[in-house]
Amino acid sequence: MYDFLLVGTGLFNAVFAYEAHKKGKKCMAVEKRDHIGGNCYTEEINRINVHKYGAHIFHTSDKFVWNYIQQFAEFNNFINSPIANYHGEIYNLPFNMNTFSKMWGIRTPEEARRIIDRQRKQITGEATNLEEHAISQVGTDVYEKLIKGYTEKQWGRPCSELPKSIMRRIPVRYTYDNNYYNDTYQGIPVDGYTQIFDKMFSGCDIFLNTDFNENKDELRKEAKRIIYTGTIDSYYNYCFGPLEYRSLRFETEVLDIDNYQGVAVVNYTDRETPYTRIIEHKHFEFGKQDTTVISREYPSEWDLGKEAYYPINDEKNSERYRKYAELAAKETGVFFGGRLGLYQYFDMQDTIKAALELADKII
Ligand SMILES: Cc1cc2nc3c(=O)[nH]c(=O)nc-3n(C[C@H](O)[C@H](O)[C@H](O)COP(=O)(O)OP(=O)(O)OC[C@H]3O[C@@H](n4cnc5c(N)ncnc54)[C@H](O)[C@@H]3O)c2cc1C
Repeated sequence: MYDFLLVGTGLFNAVFAYEAHKKGKKCMAVEKRDHIGGNCYTEEINRINVHKYGAHIFHTSDKFVWNYIQQFAEFNNFINSPIANYHGEIYNLPFNMNTFSKMWGIRTPEEARRIIDRQRKQITGEATNLEEHAISQVGTDVYEKLIKGYTEKQWGRPCSELPKSIMRRIPVRYTYDNNYYNDTYQGIPVDGYTQIFDKMFSGCDIFLNTDFNENKDELRKEAKRIIYTGTIDSYYNYCFGPLEYRSLRFETEVLDIDNYQGVAVVNYTDRETPYTRIIEHKHFEFGKQDTTVISREYPSEWDLGKEAYYPINDEKNSERYRKYAELAAKETGVFFGGRLGLYQYFDMQDTIKAALELADKII
């Protein structure tokens, strides 16, 4: 008999498995996909590590987390500096002096501030939707060219019909700084993410192509306790109805050229281009290969058969989640973790911290 049955082999359970093994506990893991690593999984194509479930850039300001992850891989000094393409016009992201200089032909922070402040004043009173909220923070030009189309593609609805809650404070920098994240530490594992999972799970028995929910009765007999990182509603057979997500679809292409877009991430911010981003994977590791691999990222409606990417934390779904969480709180040997188990978006650093916390508490 195992001490723990881990459902899912993403980052949450990888950290848990590593900590359990260190303390002499026996774990088995079941994974419904045909590989470990969850959404962080990278696959090698033409010697390029391809981020199969979307671009993953590790970033944190927590020195403990940074040191922790580096036990499993060497990280390079990649800094995420994405580009926006609006009908062929190129802008730097996040919104900073490089963006403003290109947009208005200005040079100083004072000039940029004056323009943005003037445009922001179009919204008087409390913003009632995402469109008004965005304009009240960054003005009309940045909104029209860099936010509107992108956001509408992502959520499949006009910004004027989206709640302002899905976009909190929009960061605006009055410095010439294209570093997307504000964190102290940032990088990409040299040779991809999958090696990290091979090491973390090395002391654990893994069964791929195995869906816990289709084999519940036998699997429960295998261990005293379960760490479940699948969707919480599936565990309870959707008894309160399914929790909703936004999904993504990736179209990956190998090109016989060495450099397609000169940067890892380009956001297509107009409404007409059907995809939101193109990722050119080799640039995450400063690759010098003769060919290149790109992935176009298409936002997509979600239904039960599709990959669940972003939880929709609106009122209806939050209420539904609360009901599932109440059932979960009554369980004795089952613990829910990770982004699907807790129905919340977590960066990798948050996932590591949450898994270490649970490991500390129950191992
Ligand atoms: C598009 C995208 C981009 C991201 N980019 C970044 C980034 O740049 N930086 C960053 O820090 N974070 C990023 N993240 C977040 C990061 O992916 C998560 O923090 C991390 O993957 C969470 O790990 P997890 O173990 O909770 O979930 P997952 O990685 O989703 O792992 C869950 C695993 O459980 C398996 N599973 C589910 N149900 C069952 C079942 N019933 N039976 C068996 N197995 C099951 C799944 O197949 C999956 O392998 C991104 C997320 C997305 C969606």
